[in-house]
Amino acid sequence: MSTATTPLVSEMLIGDDILTGASGPTLTHHYAATGEPNGEVPLGGEPEVAAAVAAAKAALPAWEALGPVERRNRLARLAEVVESWTGRFEAIASAETGMPKQGFAWRVRLSCEWIRTYVGYADKVGGDVTASADDGTLEYTRLEPYGVVGIIITWNSPLLSLCMKIPAALAAGNTVVVKPSELTPYTPALFGRACLEAGIPPGVVNVVVGGAEAGEVLTVHPDVEKVSFTGGLSTAAAMMRSGAALVKPFCFELGGKSAYTVFPDADVDLAVTLASKEMSNAGQSCKFGSRLFVHDAVFDEYREKLAAAIGRVVVGDPEDTGTTMGPLITRGAQERVLGFVEGARGRGDGQVLLGGGVPQLDTRLRHGYFVEPTVFTDVDPASPLGQDEIFGPVFGMFRWSDEETLVEQVNSTKFGLSNYVHTRDLRTATRMVHRLKSGTVYVNDANRRNPGAPFGGFRASGIGSEGGRRGLEEFLRAKTVGIA
Ligand code: NAD
Repeated sequence: MSTATTPLVSEMLIGDDILTGASGPTLTHHYAATGEPNGEVPLGGEPEVAAAVAAAKAALPAWEALGPVERRNRLARLAEVVESWTGRFEAIASAETGMPKQGFAWRVRLSCEWIRTYVGYADKVGGDVTASADDGTLEYTRLEPYGVVGIIITWNSPLLSLCMKIPAALAAGNTVVVKPSELTPYTPALFGRACLEAGIPPGVVNVVVGGAEAGEVLTVHPDVEKVSFTGGLSTAAAMMRSGAALVKPFCFELGGKSAYTVFPDADVDLAVTLASKEMSNAGQSCKFGSRLFVHDAVFDEYREKLAAAIGRVVVGDPEDTGTTMGPLITRGAQERVLGFVEGARGRGDGQVLLGGGVPQLDTRLRHGYFVEPTVFTDVDPASPLGQDEIFGPVFGMFRWSDEETLVEQVNSTKFGLSNYVHTRDLRTATRMVHRLKSGTVYVNDANRRNPGAPFGGFRASGIGSEGGRRGLEEFLRAKTVGIA
């Protein structure tokens, strides 16, 4: 039996209890490539969140007492366990998300790199000594963990999302309650088991599977001192409203409308290859460079090469090793993206160059949630196609000739997550890096998700960062101490 049809088991971790039932309704999980049910997901709510927060609070003294060196050692062991369970994570990945199995081992390796980065920080949390006052008073800052931290993530890359937040939170000395997306409960459950296997004390990492309601309860819980969230803008805005009464601090990693800017001197083949690789998760990536701003001088060459590269994308069963693009996460996501494409076509936001519909696949995949890789040209930058995050495999091409207008158009959306500049000229590169309003800008490269570098958005793409020392500091607060 293929993994995709193997029933998946959803469980929660609260303290050292592994629970397979829940207080809420049960959601049926579907294999996105066929639409067939492949698991039942019992949803937790207020009782599970309350129990998990209590377990996380109770575990704080023991986690603190371990001290930085032993916390570091347990995190190092966690990286080893996750790495040694690569096959187990791989086995559920496609069945859970519809992401192609091909290349998933690389995602596990990257996730382990994120854990190891915070292994390195765990024994290096320190504050500053401020300039001594003339009277000899000693003043210093002590960086302290928040305590219990809520971690709320979405479904598009569950293992990496967990590893971009939890190791940093634990290295800083916090305990966590994780509320994964109800669409992808399986990887977080296995991650919870990996934490126990690594000797991370029970209660330090808790996993509550649930929907929006569980997320809301976690957000407003008075014992949750901070929430780190990856997901959509409207959810973040709702969380800010519900957390306002307690002025809850948030780290928000949100969506984007990232752009490739291709200059006349660019390596066009490279720019095309990097853009087309973004189809690997069917465009369901926050940093997806969905807007392709190509200079007039190389526009036709780029368009032809992009069409050829998109033609080589193999859409199919994510379990097949040759597949390079799978389905979208749910039927609802498929309908939303197809509806968006139809709307853009109807409004005349641009001209469809490629795709725009449902691919013709074999009968077994007929009810899967697929959308063809789609390219629009001559896109109106001010239109919904030019402004809104689609979160599907849809590119828009824009022709440009004047740098002022280019910069204005690239910066014209409400987002500011990532941008990509393709040029061989150093001065052009640095000028663009300075002018583009986004949390990351890569020149002649794709976003690497390097765990040593901060990743975060400007404007409506988020608040705060994951990665590097800044990612650690998200989970620390400064206390000033004065000793006379
Ligand atoms: P979403 O906001 O609908 O859901 C994300 C999580 O929030 C889920 O666990 C969900 O159950 C929970 N949730 C929903 N309502 C809530 C509420 N009122 N209070 C608390 N929790 C609540 O996100 P989505 O649409 O599933 O995810 C896609 C979005 O995530 C895209 O915009 C994408 O760009 C973004 N994303 C950003 C990053 C990043 O690092 N910047 C990474 C991946 C995805």
